[in-house]
Formats: sequence, structure tokens, C-alpha cells
Amino acid sequence: MSERIAVIGGAGYVGSHAAKALAAIGAVPVVIDNLSAGHAHAVQWGPLVQADIRDTAALAQALRDNGVCAAMMFAASIEVGIGEREPLAFYENNVAGMISTLRALRMAGVESLIFSSTCAVHGATPPPLVETSPVAPVSVYGRSKAFCEAIISDLVRAEGLKAGVLRYFNASGADPDGDIGEEHEPETHLIPNALKAAAGIGAGLTVFGTDYDTPDGTCLRDYVHVSDLGEAHVAALAHVRARGGLTTLNLGTGRPYSVREVIDTVERVTGLGVPATYAARRPGDAPVLTADISAARATIGFAPRYSGLDTIVATAWAFHRKVWAKAGLIKL
Ligand code: UDP
Repeated sequence: MSERIAVIGGAGYVGSHAAKALAAIGAVPVVIDNLSAGHAHAVQWGPLVQADIRDTAALAQALRDNGVCAAMMFAASIEVGIGEREPLAFYENNVAGMISTLRALRMAGVESLIFSSTCAVHGATPPPLVETSPVAPVSVYGRSKAFCEAIISDLVRAEGLKAGVLRYFNASGADPDGDIGEEHEPETHLIPNALKAAAGIGAGLTVFGTDYDTPDGTCLRDYVHVSDLGEAHVAALAHVRARGGLTTLNLGTGRPYSVREVIDTVERVTGLGVPATYAARRPGDAPVLTADISAARATIGFAPRYSGLDTIVATAWAFHRKVWAKAGLIKL
């Protein structure tokens, strides 16, 4: 019988790609999501249970009813700016929600967990970032993830939880088959915003900061394809179930690109111009974020297949065009 793995927050961007990657190895992803930010149409490879992570009893029941043997946790508030404006609600969802999830996992006898974390736990620590670089978040978002990491680490020590903590750099791109992609509302990320500008939707791209101490003055980021992230979750789960303990890994590519390089790539891949205006720095943006992925390579054989910037942009463009055409925003 196929194993059933809970994908909590599996109707969202990274979670839905992890669900597809689980299905590709013959597992059944059981998506648990309150659909506050996720989309029912992104749940295509197994059942959807609509429940909130803060409802421990409902969560435990969903895990038990579905015969789940391990879990991946994606559900969280992710918008950095909202965290700064409304820290309490943010911590309630991300930290209290995590505690509730850990309780539900224990009630249901689920011993293995992969947790979706972020390079933002390192704050302004200079690159390249390794897993042992200081944890020094500078945002409510980063702090909420760092708190969760600490709680998980304590449960590994005290209760024998088997856990993987995956710190993503810039998740981007879309499923190469076009089944799922990035559908945030509002969208704040560079690549979808640049594509939107290329498609002539909205007022064009705003570039935040051209006076950084970087080769072209704009920020450098390490973009990693969301399908590579999905596959890494599957590999990390197999690793922690076999080995136990806590495994923390950075997931990026180690090759950062500047905002200007991203714009150039979008123009080349789409064949369209990106109308852009240049504005002041966005508060909280680090000049350079890039991963050292040696540990992920050595531990789970992480070898990104889709994370070339051209592939990231091309897969995102194909997905967004379909969505925007359906919404009547563009004609194909
Ligand atoms: N950025 C930008 N315009 C946008 C969105 C992002 O210039 O509309 C810049 C942002 O300042 C950062 C980089 O693009 O330097 C990546 O930002 P994004 O929000 O995609 O990811 P983050 O690194 O903040 O998680």
C-alpha cells in the first residue's frame, strides 16, 4: 500500500510542488490546509482536508483518519512586511501554529517531520551562508521561523522526533508540466512582478535600490526552482526517517543573480521589455544572500535540475501566462 504523507500547507506554492514530488515516488500526499492563502485547485495528487493548524484536535484527527506516517510542514504566514506591522498575529500563526502542529503529530503518533524554513533566519549575516552560520534574524518572519527551528530541535533532543529543517533561499519558477505555480496575493516577489511588467499588467516593475555595494548596484539573490525544492523534501524525509535526529540544510544553488540580471533574463526569455522604475531600498533587504549547498549535496544528494535562471523564468512565464489569460488580463 502507498505511504500517506501529510503535507500541511500543501495548497500553497512550495507545498503543492512537494505534494507532486511525493506522488512521483508513489506516495499519497494528504494535504491539510485552511485555504487562507493556498488554492484548492493546487491540490491534485491526493485528498484535501480543510483544517487550521491552530486547531490541534482537528489536525490530529485528520492525521489519524488518513493513516499518515510522516509530515511536511509548510503552513505559515510569509509576507515579511505584514509581520512587521502585525507581529502578534504572525507569531500566533507561525509559532503557536507550529506548537499546535507538533502536538497533533504527537497525538497521532507521527514521528518524522520536514519543516519549511528560510535563509531569513540568518538575517544580515554575510554570505555564503552555511548551516552553522549565526541564527540572527532581523524580521518578525525570520524570528518566527527561528523560534520554530529551536522548538523542533528541543523535541528531537527530548522526545526523539526525527526532523529535517530546510532553509530555502529564493523559491521561484513553476512546475515544468504547468500544473501548478506561484499564486500569491498580493505578489511581492521579483520574478513574478518582472513577468507581470513584461506582460503589460500593472504599472511596471519597481526596482528597490540601485546603490548597493554589489557589481551593478542591485541586490543579489540565490534563486532555486520550486520543483527542486519539492524533490529535496522527499529526499530529506527519506534521510531523516532512516537516520533519526535533526538534519538542517540550506537549499539554494550557490550562484546568486542581481535584480538587473533577472530583468535581463526576463526580457530575453519572454522577448518583451520590462518597464521599470528605480526606487529607494526596500527596508530589511540584505545586499547579498547566497547559499553554500555543500551539506545538502553531501547529505541528500541535492543537485538542482531546474534551477538555471532561464529555466526558472521560462517555467514561471508559461504558468503565469496561462493564469493571466484565464483571468482575461492578457491574450495568448
Ligand atoms: N525586488 C524588486 N522589486 C520587486 C520585488 C523585489 O526590486 O517588485 C527586489 C528586492 O528588493 C530584492 C530582490 O528583488 O532585492 C528579491 O526580492 P524578493 O521579494 O523576490 O525575495 P526576498 O529575497 O525578499 O525573499
